[in-house]
Amino acid sequence: MSVERTLAIIKPDAVTAGAAGKILSRIEQAGFKVVALKMIQMSFDDAAGFYAVHRERPFFKSLCTFMTQGPCIPMVLEADDAIQRWRDLMGATDPVKAAAGTIRKDFATSIEANAVHGSDAAATAAFEIGYFFSSLELCGR
Ligand code: ATP
Ligand code: MG
Repeated sequence: MSVERTLAIIKPDAVTAGAAGKILSRIEQAGFKVVALKMIQMSFDDAAGFYAVHRERPFFKSLCTFMTQGPCIPMVLEADDAIQRWRDLMGATDPVKAAAGTIRKDFATSIEANAVHGSDAAATAAFEIGYFFSSLELCGR
């Protein structure tokens, strides 16, 4: 196991619902170090660039519109095995399938409005961290 960084986002549905503080608290309680964090509102093109791997999927346009509907909170989390551990804490994409105690089980309202994002591999994390943060914005470097 090695120290890793992953890109997390508290998505607009969770920010609008006032759940950002509760989600951040779970992140801290799980032992992640928050090394960068900001609140932004993405344009459609910002979201489309971020989710470019999904551009051929039927839900792509709807997903990009959803991600622009309000502010979101991207952050960089650091921990041993951070990528998998953050995905475990998030739970399954579809909240109906998410395990008890996961963030999506407790805060997601649909397969699209599912409260949080997490990188799915080391290469993805590197791209996604660089998409939102410069090296100067990463604390503990
Ligand atoms: P994320 O990448 O946001 O962490 P994920 O890796 O669990 O989520 P992906 O398959 O990468 O899931 O899908 C990216 C996002 O697209 C999902 O989090 C969700 O918001 C949306 N999405 C996925 N599948 C669907 C679907 N069938 N219908 C609508 N939206 C979907
Ligand atoms: Mg994904």
